[in-house]
Amino acid sequence: MKASPDHRVWRNWAGTAAAAPARWCRPRSEAEISAAVKDAAAAGLPVRALGSGHSFTAAAATSGVALDLSGWTGIIAADTRTGLVTVRSGTTLRALNAGLGGLGLAMANLGDIDAQTLAGALCTGTHGTGARLGGLATQVEALELVMADGSVVTCSAANRPELFAAARIGLGALGVITAVTLRCVPSFTLQADERPLPVEEVLEQFDALAAANDHFEFYWFPYGRKALVKRNNRLPAPAVPAPPVPGTMPGWRRFWEFEVMENAAFGTLCRIGRARPRLIPALNRFSSAALSSRSYTDVSHRVFVTPRRVRFAESEYAVPRESLAHVIAELRRAVPRLPDPVMFPVEVRVAAADDIWLSTAYGRESAYIAIHQYTGLPYQDYFDRFESIVAEVSGRPHWGKLHSLDAGRLRPLYPRFGDFRRVRAEADPEDRFGNPYLTRVFGGADDL
Ligand SMILES: Cc1cc2nc3c(=O)[nH]c(=O)nc-3n(C[C@H](O)[C@H](O)[C@H](O)COP(=O)(O)OP(=O)(O)OC[C@H]3O[C@@H](n4cnc5c(N)ncnc54)[C@H](O)[C@@H]3O)c2cc1C
Repeated sequence: MKASPDHRVWRNWAGTAAAAPARWCRPRSEAEISAAVKDAAAAGLPVRALGSGHSFTAAAATSGVALDLSGWTGIIAADTRTGLVTVRSGTTLRALNAGLGGLGLAMANLGDIDAQTLAGALCTGTHGTGARLGGLATQVEALELVMADGSVVTCSAANRPELFAAARIGLGALGVITAVTLRCVPSFTLQADERPLPVEEVLEQFDALAAANDHFEFYWFPYGRKALVKRNNRLPAPAVPAPPVPGTMPGWRRFWEFEVMENAAFGTLCRIGRARPRLIPALNRFSSAALSSRSYTDVSHRVFVTPRRVRFAESEYAVPRESLAHVIAELRRAVPRLPDPVMFPVEVRVAAADDIWLSTAYGRESAYIAIHQYTGLPYQDYFDRFESIVAEVSGRPHWGKLHSLDAGRLRPLYPRFGDFRRVRAEADPEDRFGNPYLTRVFGGADDL
């Protein structure tokens, strides 16, 4: 399949990154993906696989060949007995969740949206929350990749384990992921409980809340006194497998709560704040005071995932769990002193330690702190201040969210950083899958 010269510009969801690829290519088979990589090599062009553009960083940007994998989707094979499901890499999480649901299966944990492609989500270390659970990449059993020479390779814990350790969260630097075998679990129902609590109380009880709930997180408006605590817990599986029960939140209320209150109404407040920045702290306190309780049950992915229509810029760092209270205290002190006020809440989540080389939770029980600013409002001072706070506690940035770290700062944060660079150099000696973001975070070939 020939890549077509095209003048389309690539932009990400948040509007924080753009690129003008020399060629666009929309392969529909593994052979076409392999041919696209070989063609790019023959033309001396770099290649980047595109996901859904939901990274805030320019991770997917390329001036070479943009591989649009939206024609490479769907479940290839599923074993409902073992839960092993092989999926084409361009499948969105939304389509995956629907497909798994039809098989009586589910992902054990998910983040809070489902617009990403499976491979895109894996490549940057996308995660949800749960002290006993890891991010999406910990649910991967095997990967299939098209390598820089166009060959197709599979890897797993038993087969090419180093490639597997590197490529599960590898920013697409090792090859184009074509298929992912996931270890899924039987479909399950979550009981969601959301309630506002004073932020001091949440911090005091943080470890207990993380330990006592399958999926615990909280949102905190940085000028407000309250945090919205979300506790999602699995309901026991029925003794006899049953078809999915409709959620206990009626459709109209779901629409009202998620679309109207969390998106339309909040979007309106954000637009007022952008037009009159001096009002932002008051609007922020108002949003905090208006937080209310709700409780409902639904199929797992309908609880994990919520619509996010109000656009924003985001940075997120993983810190050792015990450092969370210190980071939040410092943020509380810093936010009122910023030159520009902050409209969006801070989100805090947790994850278990894992062993994936570039996982933000590698080797440590982690707390994730995500900060956001409404699109069009200044965020640089806020994000810089946040970075200096998390730097004190060895914070690791989410690979898909805004940060300023380079290879020199990242290397000491990741014990296996050198191994990753070695495996990458072996897999892609000519930097076929490189781009400026990868050069910044992994360093150049000369730094080996
Ligand atoms: C509104 C919103 C909510 C979010 N919520 C969460 C959350 O809850 N938790 C969380 O951790 N993150 C979250 N994120 C971040 C998001 O999950 C990641 O940035 C993710 O990488 C985006 O996936 P994507 O499909 O858009 O990939 P892209 O951003 O398009 O690409 C990401 C990387 O993957 C590479 N890539 C894509 N496909 C392939 C492939 N087949 N082979 C090799 N490389 C490939 C790209 O080249 C790029 O380097 C959120 C982002 C937004 C905008």
